[in-house]
Amino acid sequence: MQILIVDDDVVDRENVKRSLFKSAVKCSIEEAVDVDTALAMCNEKQFDVVLLDYRLPKRDGIELLLELRSKSDICSEVVVMMSNSEDEALALECLQAGAQDFVLKKEITAAKLRRTILQAGKRFELELELRESFQRVKRLAERDVLTNLANRYLFDETFKLAVANHQRKSSKLALLLFDVDNFKLINDSFGHSAGDALLQGICKRIATVLRDDEMFARLGGDEFAILLTNLASPYDAARLAERVRLSLNTPFTLEGHEVSASVSIGIAVYQAEGGNSTEELLRYADIAMYRSKRKGRGQISFFEQGMQDHIERRLTLENGLAQALQKREFFLCYQPMFNVQSKALEGFEALIRWQSAQGLIMPDEFIPVSEQSHQIIGIGRWVLSEAVRQLGLWNRGRSIPLRMAINISANQLADTDLPSITKALCAEHHIEPDLLEFELTETALLDNSSVRVATLEALVGLGCSLALDDFGTGYSSIAHLQNTPLSTVKLDRSMMPSADEAGKSTALLNGLVAMLKELNLSIVAEGVETRAHEQLCQTLGVHRLQGFYYCEGVSAQNITQRYLGKKGK
Ligand code: C2E
Ligand code: CA
Ligand code: CA
Repeated sequence: MQILIVDDDVVDRENVKRSLFKSAVKCSIEEAVDVDTALAMCNEKQFDVVLLDYRLPKRDGIELLLELRSKSDICSEVVVMMSNSEDEALALECLQAGAQDFVLKKEITAAKLRRTILQAGKRFELELELRESFQRVKRLAERDVLTNLANRYLFDETFKLAVANHQRKSSKLALLLFDVDNFKLINDSFGHSAGDALLQGICKRIATVLRDDEMFARLGGDEFAILLTNLASPYDAARLAERVRLSLNTPFTLEGHEVSASVSIGIAVYQAEGGNSTEELLRYADIAMYRSKRKGRGQISFFEQGMQDHIERRLTLENGLAQALQKREFFLCYQPMFNVQSKALEGFEALIRWQSAQGLIMPDEFIPVSEQSHQIIGIGRWVLSEAVRQLGLWNRGRSIPLRMAINISANQLADTDLPSITKALCAEHHIEPDLLEFELTETALLDNSSVRVATLEALVGLGCSLALDDFGTGYSSIAHLQNTPLSTVKLDRSMMPSADEAGKSTALLNGLVAMLKELNLSIVAEGVETRAHEQLCQTLGVHRLQGFYYCEGVSAQNITQRYLGKKGK
């Protein structure tokens, strides 16, 4: 037996040692005179028994006890407190803090010490057993036996705590409730053990799409909940619900049969202002789940109408976009750009429009969606081919050819075929590539992965120019101006002073333009809406003008009629 005596009094230590020798307890003894030394020793090696004096210099024995007990939840040393009679009350306090016994120093004899150590050891063993069975019971009380998920009890406790903690936070909290579609039917046709196996299979799949901090619980039967506590936006909850739904796409095998399973999901988002209670939030999520069920299998619904509208609109957009190209629902509008001095037409910016079954949809709404679903690649290629084809028509027989600016978004730079497609299109429509200008936003330049850089360089290699779009809205970083082979910068329309700012100092704009000129960049002013804007641009000495003052984005036919003196395309 390894025994550690912690006592600063040398006489007391000797007394204990002598008693131990006489007691015939087989042991090796080490000694410490203060808490820190004792702690260091306990960290180094495993003692079976610590005989601990309450009164120690600097730190009390109880502090050592507390530190030993907090080291791990399984306490590994038996601790016997030693005290003088006057601090008996304190010694009792030590028992409460986790010591197994205490002895009065003046009563220490060989026999007494032997008995104390043996009894303390036994008590310690019992305590460990008790702790283990407590943990087993706790597990049973908090975990669902079939799926090993948190059960209703643990879920309720965690949920209450999360809501209480949430009052002070700006992040969002959302509750997803779902149940398995037609679970009763599966149970009835395949039997209960197959039904259980299906529930286990579903939980396993769903667990793979969750993070560790996302609580997943079985509330009962085929009803489950996921608690999301750190959401930046409610849409994250929709995205997670979508992942849950997708995770069940592949069918399960039940007793040799392929069975497809789906869940109906309801989502409620905690509103800090209204201060929903957990009961309210549960009820809302339940109502949303009910709505999902009514819509059919595998649906996702928000309780909050605004959020519901938002995801529905998005889903409609996503689904519609998947077929829009094929159905030829896109068309291009063209917005002219003019020379600041001569006011001559220099070219156009191609702007996409979507004539969907729901009506005309503008790019600000559907381009971000198409970026996320990667449909932008196909759409972008279509824009390019349509714009080049149109430019070929307009330039036929012109002595001074017109130019075409084409917007490309960040994800399109991953399209490694873009340069070769551009080259082929230019050849087909007899367009010099240097008449094409690709407009990129600053965010597209932030990602300087080798694929994207290579695409940009290949486009420049063909002779095309690159323009930085919306300058003045993002980081407006000078590094991008220098590190990317840009030839043009487009000043964002927000840089134009509004009517009530007419007298505002234009010092910032002046400085920016001077800097851009210094870098030999061609400057386009966007959003020129008034005569005053035009005059400002002339004073600043930007090069090209674009804006509603001259013309908005209009159809090719309209451009032809207004600017090219010909009818039709
Ligand atoms: P952008 O590249 O900044 O395009 C200019 C936007 O400003 C156009 O909106 C245009 O109609 C509008 N605009 C032009 N002059 C004025 C003006 O004087 N005043 C005001 N208030 N607005 C003016 P639009 O067509 O709705 O396009 C929105 C955005 O969608 C574009 O912003 C561009 O980022 C994106 N986009 C448009 N077409 C395409 C495309 O074919 N591909 C990609 N990837 N994005 C596109
Ligand atoms: Ca643009
Ligand atoms: Ca722009």
